[in-house]
Amino acid sequence: MSEKILIVEDEITLQETLAYNLKRQGYEVETAADGTTALQIARQSHPDLIVLDIMLPGMDGFEVCRLLRQEMSTPILMLTAKDDEIDRVVGLEVGADDYMTKPFSMRELIARIKAMLRRVRMIKEELEKTEPSLFPPGQKLIFDNLIIDTYRHEVRLNDQILIVKPKEYELLLFLAQHRGQVLSREYILERVWGWDYIGDSRTVDVHVRWLREKIESDPANPSRIVTVRGAGYRFEG
Ligand code: CA
Repeated sequence: MSEKILIVEDEITLQETLAYNLKRQGYEVETAADGTTALQIARQSHPDLIVLDIMLPGMDGFEVCRLLRQEMSTPILMLTAKDDEIDRVVGLEVGADDYMTKPFSMRELIARIKAMLRRVRMIKEELEKTEPSLFPPGQKLIFDNLIIDTYRHEVRLNDQILIVKPKEYELLLFLAQHRGQVLSREYILERVWGWDYIGDSRTVDVHVRWLREKIESDPANPSRIVTVRGAGYRFEG
């Protein structure tokens, strides 16, 4: 089954060019010219990747990205036209996975898309094959009062569902899968965010801090995700 890409772009010529080129690469393509339509399509058809322009009529791409991120972890590649947009995309606030600056070459865009989709496939395969005893598909990882439900994509603490961002969930799951093992920031970044991610290892620190605030009884003195000085992080359970 071919992978599905949603293109969100209001400049029709560019939208059509993108759609044409991606279809030629064998992808199934859907298009939207505004944010509201994009959200509707994304909810209905669960695309494998979203190409999202920032300058859109009504709701801009930042807002669309933020709303998408609350609901799904679909990779998002943002199209930017201005320097100040790049700053916001690169910053953690938006939650896009990658970006391209207009004007861009179609070859480069396709290469990025392929890399992003390959990464998602790799992570999925990895999750399916690694340590089956520790990670049976669609089951729960239980650490005392902390439960990671991989079937429902939920984290529960004391039977309360925690609101976690998709990347926080992926990070927690990754740490939990490697319980007891020291993992360097670089390794975590590479495995959870992908080797071609544009951020640096502080991204990992920020997400660890957010997770600690949610799952640690005393976030200042963490006992679940511990810092190993000069080495990285270790999940204790
Ligand atoms: Ca536009």
